Amino acid sequence: MAIETPARAERRRFRVTGVVQGVGFRPWVHGLAERHDLAGFVLNDAGGVVIEAEGAPDALDALEVALRADGPPLARVQRVESEPLPSAGDSGFSIAPSRGDAATATLVPADTATCEACLRELFDPADRRYRHPFITCTQCGPRFTIVRRVPYDRPNTTMAGFGLCDACRREYEDPADRRFHAEPIACHDCGPRLSMPLADAVRVLRAGGILAVKGVGGFHLACDAADEEAVARLRARKHREDKPFAVMAADPALLVHVGAGEAELLYSAARPIVLLQRREGAPVAPSVAPGSPWLGIMTPYTPLHHLLLADFGAPLVMTSGNRSDEPIALEDDEARERLAGIADAFLGHDRPIHRRCEDSVVRPELTLRRSRGLAPATLGLPFAAPRPVLAVGAELKSTFCVAAGLQAHLSAHLGDLHSEPAFRAFDRDVALYLEMLGVRPGVVAHDLHPDYLSTKWALEQDADAIGIQHHHAHAAACLAEHGETGPALAVVLDGTGYGPDGTLWGGELLRCDLNDYDRVAHLDAIPLPGGEAAVREPWRVAAAYLERAGRPVPFERWGLVRQSLAVNAPLSSGAGRLLDAVSALLGVRERITYEGQAAIELEQLAGRASAEPYDCRLSGGTIHGADLVRAAHDDLDVGRSREEIAAAVHEGLAAAFAAACLLAGQTRTVVLSGGCLQNLRLRDGLRERLEQVGFTVLTHRRVPPNDGGIAFGQAAIAARRTSVCA
Ligand SMILES: [Zn+2]
Ligand SMILES: [Zn+2]
Ligand SMILES: [Zn+2]
Repeated sequence: MAIETPARAERRRFRVTGVVQGVGFRPWVHGLAERHDLAGFVLNDAGGVVIEAEGAPDALDALEVALRADGPPLARVQRVESEPLPSAGDSGFSIAPSRGDAATATLVPADTATCEACLRELFDPADRRYRHPFITCTQCGPRFTIVRRVPYDRPNTTMAGFGLCDACRREYEDPADRRFHAEPIACHDCGPRLSMPLADAVRVLRAGGILAVKGVGGFHLACDAADEEAVARLRARKHREDKPFAVMAADPALLVHVGAGEAELLYSAARPIVLLQRREGAPVAPSVAPGSPWLGIMTPYTPLHHLLLADFGAPLVMTSGNRSDEPIALEDDEARERLAGIADAFLGHDRPIHRRCEDSVVRPELTLRRSRGLAPATLGLPFAAPRPVLAVGAELKSTFCVAAGLQAHLSAHLGDLHSEPAFRAFDRDVALYLEMLGVRPGVVAHDLHPDYLSTKWALEQDADAIGIQHHHAHAAACLAEHGETGPALAVVLDGTGYGPDGTLWGGELLRCDLNDYDRVAHLDAIPLPGGEAAVREPWRVAAAYLERAGRPVPFERWGLVRQSLAVNAPLSSGAGRLLDAVSALLGVRERITYEGQAAIELEQLAGRASAEPYDCRLSGGTIHGADLVRAAHDDLDVGRSREEIAAAVHEGLAAAFAAACLLAGQTRTVVLSGGCLQNLRLRDGLRERLEQVGFTVLTHRRVPPNDGGIAFGQAAIAARRTSVCA
């Protein structure tokens, strides 16, 4: 009879990398070790989490399986390495002090909305944190925006200046407590303080005032969303004419149609702004989103928001705390200075923000702006970058991307880079990311446009510079997001991007991989009368298109402006310009006050109207967009509805590019990218047509199709090119 002897104790070291700090990982490991009767320790270092465990071999195996497969909800384990060690004879399992000495990059988690457990305490009069505006635990609260350096420990965050009181310290040090090592924890006794009583802030809002409110990644400007005078005043003071404001609502279903998928987005840990169909008669002032059938809605995501909305009792406009085109204000003093003259009162506090992060914006199945709550999540690359890459993006909706090994870190949204404050923010944030990741880039990837500030900055760096064509970068962003390297066809429908032939591109069919591309077909280039002025005044593009189409031009000023064709009229094949032209022709929008406005309003006009596509000739690689404008003009003349005309243009453009893909043959995968593919009617029209004829169609999900995704595409191409050379 075999006698079972206890297995000899073994010792192993596990290194776990990924998002494993600030998510309750160590207490979770502690619990596992106790269940499996293991001795040893767990600690954070700059590379992630290190565990040394000693016990029975099958218990160690079970620990390893759990490390790979489970984890606390907010953790994202990327890799688990294991190595045997000589036994050390530990007794018991402990959480050891952090070490800041490892070389590999660890990932700071994204900021996370207040969790259900904390919310219950927030509104429980018996709880010691009742109405504490900074309540948080290991499962929620600020992370990325308050971390100064890794490892993620309290002294390395902006909470360093707040000593824990005895009650908080007991929770912080008790592995059984849900606030064990929750770095930002605090309470009424020891935590940060608001700069004004909440009741006074609510009074300002009730009186129709504008309140600057400190959020997670910067200040918001808030006012009563139902008070037309207040909203109109905010528009006037912020110098923002038409661009919709976001609304924060505790119950979004009162304002917009919320399906199951939309609810998931609205209540996700990231709490982005979600663009949703407005309800008939929603109690929202007309100036919130003038003329738009959509509303950008978010739900409260900090304890302060929850308190403010509960006390105010109705939805609030919550827009970035900046003047138009500047980055969001970060610190209390800065906000007071920059927002003076806009805000009537400042609801700030003394917990500093280390990194600026605006709200993210999404549509179902589509990311428009990747920022708070979504940054700095890592995107995979389809192959390893041999040298670290910094990609600096384009100019509008600026982001940058740091790629090292198989990982790409796409920065939070920085705004438009042409303003001086935005450029300073870019410079600072690049330095912060490189420091956080412990990376020194050997390669800097940039757009081919010589006048972009990001290009100029890239060329001044002490690293190899690689110039990348704008629409190749768009296509690569979509390919790499899907883990593909190509070859594939790419339909890139965009506003403007620098073409190597000296014209502006933007209505492109490319055949490409991550290394290179061919221009297979493109929209016929049209002169933009007055250059930049034509982007701001779509009627000028409509006039140029109508002349190309052989139709009369109905705009009075054309006689005068037409002369600019001889002096300043760069050629553009941009699909955005074509949609702008139709928008102006249909009387939707002749002049814009924010980027993309004319095309966005055209999409809204088309809505779900059904229409056969207009014909659009394709000859020798040229897609004759003027055909669509001619058809729209002629239908308008015979009194066809503008909705149907807008729909027929969308369908015609989609049909033309689908036909061009079919002609291009061979390659069976098509990626769809570019700013115009934020337009779901266009995207879905293309996808359906391409899938009907057997193509596999890849569209963006986590990476924006607009210029916010350019940096990721540049990084993928630069990584590929340097690996091909290596
Ligand atoms: Zn919590
Ligand atoms: Zn305390
Ligand atoms: Zn673009």
